[in-house]
Amino acid sequence: MANVLVSGLVKHFGSVVALNQINLDIEDGEFIVFVGPSGSGKSTLLRCIAGLESISEGTVKIAHVDVTGLDPADRDLSMVFQNYALFPHLSCRANLEFPLKTEGVGKSDIDKRVDQAARLLHVLDLLDRKPSSLSGGQRQRVAIGRAIVKEPKVFLFDEPLSNLDAELRIRMRVEIVKLHRQLQNTIIYVTHDQVEAMTMADRIVVLRAGAIEQVGRPHDLYHRPVNRFVASFIGAPQMNMLPCTHLAGDASSTTIRVGSHAESRLPVGPVRDDEKEGLVVGFRPEHISLARPDAETTETIELEMSVEVIEHLGAATNMYGTVETTSGKSEITVSQSGPVTLLEGHSSRIWIPVADCHLFNSNDNAIKRHGDPPTWK
Ligand code: ADP
Ligand code: MG
Repeated sequence: MANVLVSGLVKHFGSVVALNQINLDIEDGEFIVFVGPSGSGKSTLLRCIAGLESISEGTVKIAHVDVTGLDPADRDLSMVFQNYALFPHLSCRANLEFPLKTEGVGKSDIDKRVDQAARLLHVLDLLDRKPSSLSGGQRQRVAIGRAIVKEPKVFLFDEPLSNLDAELRIRMRVEIVKLHRQLQNTIIYVTHDQVEAMTMADRIVVLRAGAIEQVGRPHDLYHRPVNRFVASFIGAPQMNMLPCTHLAGDASSTTIRVGSHAESRLPVGPVRDDEKEGLVVGFRPEHISLARPDAETTETIELEMSVEVIEHLGAATNMYGTVETTSGKSEITVSQSGPVTLLEGHSSRIWIPVADCHLFNSNDNAIKRHGDPPTWK
């Protein structure tokens, strides 16, 4: 087990800057997820940590040792990729034994470690079969097993579940989390799927265009996104964004007008003079109420929504439509747990508690919230 420290990492591919000034401090035993859209640099960052890519600038330390110049084999880590990369002509047992044999581990130790890994991953009864006779999920278990038997300091996963069907993906997600709870090893896991990131990570690193946008616990990213990109990337359906007008404000609150109804005071601020134009208020579909909350206890933004499409998901209902804002019509999504009685083509009052609202300036950065710690970024 080990911590991983990435400092000032820059990676060029010719004239393309794939990673720009990455600084990251991963603690021993942490489950870290790199998430971001395709091309944001997730795999490149993982491969730089693994030593599979040379880096243009910066350093990588594993367990306090500078490994920047070391070969992948000397970094004491194991990697699992999206394609399972098992040897097709070898049995599962031989696949699991392979990394140990190449390291010159003794026979009895190999048997013990293969047995342990196979038990942990529920593949004991598959050991004598060839990979071609296994399902996708079973193959992925064996591939993970092959990473485990090496007992590395750090596990690296690059989209290991992307090739599996939806149901199996959820099962394997839980299996990998259980595995982490048991082994308590450091895991760095790459995915483009924000649900995987939110459900598996101790901390999430959100990447965009080769730079880190935000690092935080799932809860932090959901409740305190630092900018519109993170706000929109985390959570489904996506956070609503409506243009609004700045009316007044002080150090810890900002009064805005969104629609034609009364003004609303948000617990965020201060808004600098140069930020007052082009403000956008953001709020999640699931935080909208279809019933008027108690005005004494819950200050809200009140809007009139024209409901266009209703999706009945069983456990939840999503409604898509528009609201009238001070700068015209805007699209809006409402998500409610359970069924709703509204009809398509009708309109409905909706209420958004101001405590659940975010305010973004025209550079897409979130306005600080009163009570956030000074290090909040
Ligand atoms: P992700 O894993 O987030 O989808 P990658 O790390 O694969 O993104 O890629 C990040 C950027 O680096 C992309 O613009 C990609 O085109 C570029 N890139 C990755 N690998 C290479 C390579 N071997 N040669 C040139 N460009 C590359
Ligand atoms: Mg990738």
